[in-house]
Amino acid sequence: MKKKELNFGIIGSGFMGRTHAFGISIANRVFELPYKLRLKKIADVSNALASRAAEELSVPLYTSDWKELVQDSSIDVINITSPNAFHTEMALAAIKAGKHVYCEKPLSTSVTDAKKMCDAAKAAKIKTQVGFNYICNPLLIKARQMIKNGDLGKIRGFRGIHAEDYMISPDSLFTWRHDPAGGGALADLGSHIITTAEFLLGPISEVLGNCITSINRRKDSSGIIHNVVTDDVTRAFIKFENGVSGSIEANWIATGRKMQHDFEIFGSNGSLFFSQERLNELFFYKNDDPEEEKGFKKIVASPEHEPYGRFCIAPGHQLGFADLKAIEVKGFVDSIAGLRSEPFNFDQGLRVQSIVELIRRSSIQSKWLGFTD
Ligand code: NAD
Repeated sequence: MKKKELNFGIIGSGFMGRTHAFGISIANRVFELPYKLRLKKIADVSNALASRAAEELSVPLYTSDWKELVQDSSIDVINITSPNAFHTEMALAAIKAGKHVYCEKPLSTSVTDAKKMCDAAKAAKIKTQVGFNYICNPLLIKARQMIKNGDLGKIRGFRGIHAEDYMISPDSLFTWRHDPAGGGALADLGSHIITTAEFLLGPISEVLGNCITSINRRKDSSGIIHNVVTDDVTRAFIKFENGVSGSIEANWIATGRKMQHDFEIFGSNGSLFFSQERLNELFFYKNDDPEEEKGFKKIVASPEHEPYGRFCIAPGHQLGFADLKAIEVKGFVDSIAGLRSEPFNFDQGLRVQSIVELIRRSSIQSKWLGFTD
């Protein structure tokens, strides 16, 4: 029997717009889905950008007006992959038009706006998803199971970092990523490591943040010099509700680091180490190994780690970045069909935004803060 179609429209054809296009396309091919997925339309700020993306990604329709895309009655899901400052307006318009919304992280530029988005989504009874693809890695799911199973014993510490180096040059242009409305390394990269920390160890309850701006002035593409007030690096001590303590770092001037989405978890009987630059490997240290064999053992991604086997029947052949997006797409599509709950909905995105703001406030006040402070 012919499957019902689910039509997607993407706003933004940059890095993430393309990753969503790949994710939809891969998901269609590797998973058994309740719908046939179709990327039907793409929007960007100009016809030149939108038509180029449509041509390169084989999307039948394009527009330079995202509002037209949102109003298109043939589209079921709106993917928002535009700069952060647009997420709220675009999501609210899409929700109003009755679409399901798949918004890139961070959900919005403020907790207030994120709440509006959550309320509107609930009132409209549409499904929502926020793009936190790193937690779709089967080895992170394995790590979470190992922690739950007690393989590490009592968890005592967490260290997490998301570091890249795309802003190391003072000549890197001032863009939306530096905009005080939602910009900075903490919102951009820190939101990912906050998500991973809570995915593995549960809710964070208190933070002591330190947000640092290292490069104070940058030129934009028209040559205008801007004072930069957003952070280049943020470090925070964190406490989880379960009593575990730890730290996180968000850093976009970490020279040499391209995708250091890494964590270490220390337990009484064992430890785990993971690095996104080697996303098909999870390292496990067991304290009760014989003294002469002690050391981190490498667990290699394989078909035993669902859904790796959908992509490749052989272990060690490796998943990639876009494959994680495809896994995220599959989860969201299943939730639209009512087969499961949303993998990471707007409420969860709001929670991440609340932690981002808590860390910022804590940095300004130079003291530990919890959600009731
Ligand atoms: P980008 O600058 O590469 O792309 C943004 C695109 O949006 C551009 O093509 C731009 O022209 C377009 N755009 C801007 N304003 C628009 C408008 N009003 N209407 C239509 N299109 C518009 O940025 P990016 O790196 O793709 O980031 C986009 C979003 O994805 C951000 O929210 C970012 O935080 C997020 N992101 C997520 C991940 C992840 O791993 N989940 C990685 C990178 C970026």
